[in-house]
Amino acid sequence: MIIECEGLSKKYGKTLALHEVSLKLEEGVTGLIGPNGAGKSTLIKLILGLIKPTSGKITVFGLDPWTNGESVRRRIGVLHEKPSFPSWATGYDLLELVGKLRGVDNIDREIEETLTKVGLWDARNSKTAEYSAGMVQRLGIAQAIIGRPEMVILDEPTANLDPKMRVEALEILKAIREEGSSMLISTHILPELERVCESVIIIEKGAIVDNGSLESLAEKNYAHSFAIKANKPKELMETLSQLDYVRDVTLRQDEVSVRTSNPKQLLEKLEKNEKINKISHVREETGLLERIYFEASKQDSNKNEIQ
Ligand code: ADP
Repeated sequence: MIIECEGLSKKYGKTLALHEVSLKLEEGVTGLIGPNGAGKSTLIKLILGLIKPTSGKITVFGLDPWTNGESVRRRIGVLHEKPSFPSWATGYDLLELVGKLRGVDNIDREIEETLTKVGLWDARNSKTAEYSAGMVQRLGIAQAIIGRPEMVILDEPTANLDPKMRVEALEILKAIREEGSSMLISTHILPELERVCESVIIIEKGAIVDNGSLESLAEKNYAHSFAIKANKPKELMETLSQLDYVRDVTLRQDEVSVRTSNPKQLLEKLEKNEKINKISHVREETGLLERIYFEASKQDSNKNEIQ
């Protein structure tokens, strides 16, 4: 367990930014999603010990981050939203500074490896003032991951990056994960997050709406969606609507569209059905995490209306 919160609340004056949040964050890549003002940055600041909880408890690596801030922060790499760096520093200087603060061993080798990983080794001796927005963002990722910290917190890691660099940034994040760092990624770009995260925390108005592994949330919300082309689409719709692991069966042009909690079972069913209704095409639709998020926040607002 890396982070544990129990009844964690934070007020800024009269604004209740987090309200009795309880959650456990395990190793792996976790996405933190929710609208602006939901409390994501507040949660991150509490994890880093930058602000004090109003009530409740939070432990990070088993420590209270408010009273052990330095020890906690030394073990976490952070990319803040819209990073800016001292204009006098070169990329190399900056990584040296952060690496030393974090107590990174073999610092020269680590700097070279990290700058190479984010494609900034050739620009290492240029001042950050001369960097493009995309280079600044990549430097932000570099200073967060140098020394392979146990945990990396990234706020909008793909902001300011062009499409090609976004793909590259995701590849870098996957590589960091493979090297053993856990990650908490706060972002609005759900299709990108879906490609790297194993678990998700959904937060709205200072409260956790849902959290869990991507797969468990997908199952719970019938979030897998398939488009199927069949010989006899109407009959296929009829068959599928009777299954308890299927919902929202609709006909879209000549494709039957279904949502399911259990893709494996659905595909097996289609295969068995093949003799009576020939399937020419099955396609899993993108947008899994968007559907999870949409369903979870819909259920949450229904719950609020009932109360
Ligand atoms: P998010 O990161 O999800 O956009 P925040 O944690 O920044 O959300 O904000 C949660 C709520 O707390 C918002 O209503 C925001 O206006 C308020 N808030 C955040 N920081 C402060 C602050 N320093 N002073 C007063 N209110 C704040």
